[in-house]
Amino acid sequence: MKDKRPGPRAQTKVEVQPEPSNVVELVPGIYQLRGEKPGSHVYLIKGATKNVLIDTGVAVKFSVLKRQLAEPGLRIRDVNLIILTHEHYDHIGATAFFHRTAVVAAHRLAANKLELQDEFVTFRKYRDQPGKPFWVDVWLEDGSMIDLGNYELQVIHTPGHTSGCICLYEPRAGLLFTGDTVFAGGTLSEIAVGGNVSDYVNSVRRLSNLKIRQIYPGHGKVSSTPDEDLPKAIVYAQTMLDDCKTFFEAFIKTRRLQDKLGSAFGYWTQPRDKEK
Ligand SMILES: [Zn+2]
Repeated sequence: MKDKRPGPRAQTKVEVQPEPSNVVELVPGIYQLRGEKPGSHVYLIKGATKNVLIDTGVAVKFSVLKRQLAEPGLRIRDVNLIILTHEHYDHIGATAFFHRTAVVAAHRLAANKLELQDEFVTFRKYRDQPGKPFWVDVWLEDGSMIDLGNYELQVIHTPGHTSGCICLYEPRAGLLFTGDTVFAGGTLSEIAVGGNVSDYVNSVRRLSNLKIRQIYPGHGKVSSTPDEDLPKAIVYAQTMLDDCKTFFEAFIKTRRLQDKLGSAFGYWTQPRDKEK
């Protein structure tokens, strides 16, 4: 059989592959600037007259974000509006770099925490992330609308992951920017400080009533199957709620058993009110 091994010349040939772009134009004028860990994705919407960023990632990746913006031909001062999907450090970190020239908007329940630099909620110091303070110029409410001419963004308050979470819905193109509320496949986030499960259930139920063609989440892949993903998200949210009940039932049973064992072996147990 003929030897098919490459000759010495072929072996030394090095093919230079171009670096894959981390900026993707999803629909005309809307770009995903892929996030580098630990930062979130950033979305750029080139409006008819104004440019919008949804989230800004982390401060340490600002130089990457600057390069990403340059691909569709933008400089920092060309960004007119920043909308923050919620108050977590991995979505807000580079906002201060734009604040001199861009208006910053967030839901009022996120805005309050950001202005007071509530580290208990943003996790910035906990994750040892740098970041400059900024304030929120526009406090959004559920139902607020941002008209960009070629696109419009409707604010949907979706508490659950945190209290200040919003999704942004573009009804004509059927696009939903979800931050950390729902990911591809219907996956949900954890319940972080300030969030709660029952609000999460309601939030995903509300989203499932919208006509959506694509989900643009803060992390992971874009989804083109929202009709499959959102029903799954409702089931996941309801499961979280049911798991809480199961957990506390098991916890109470175990605690009663511990009390009995503790007294049998002479351990000191915390006196508590008589339980039924
Ligand atoms: Zn988050």
